Amino acid sequence: MTKVFHFDSPRERYQCDAAVLWCFDNRFELAFRKFLQRTGVIKIDPIKVAGGAKCLASPDNDSERQYVLEQIRKSIRLHNTRRVILKVHSDCGAYGGLEQFGGDPVREAEHHAEELHRAAATLRAAIPGLKIEGYYVDFEGVWEEELKP
Ligand SMILES: [Zn+2]
Repeated sequence: MTKVFHFDSPRERYQCDAAVLWCFDNRFELAFRKFLQRTGVIKIDPIKVAGGAKCLASPDNDSERQYVLEQIRKSIRLHNTRRVILKVHSDCGAYGGLEQFGGDPVREAEHHAEELHRAAATLRAAIPGLKIEGYYVDFEGVWEEELKP
């Protein structure tokens, strides 16, 4: 191998602030990352998959759900993770975009709020004892959906 860049990365093991299950749609990357930083969530284990929390709530197939659950288990095992942040977003291709909701952002937001509840219920059943938070991100900001503890 040829060294092409020098950077000193931290060698210490870390306790993860949260495993974050989000969609890889880059349009919402900056807003959500800034929000996480603002709320003190710095050391994250990012789990980026198309649809984000959809993979727990309404996966295309069960292997998607199992894959995500296994990633969360590994984050717990390796970095003592106790908190999981679930995210879905507006105009998500995995849901067929905003068109899937007749172009109605209110309908879309309501649907995605329900998805966050479904994802949290799945996660709670599979891995008890986690602190779970759910967020919806649209083109204007980040919205929290209150989830049962
Ligand atoms: Zn998406």
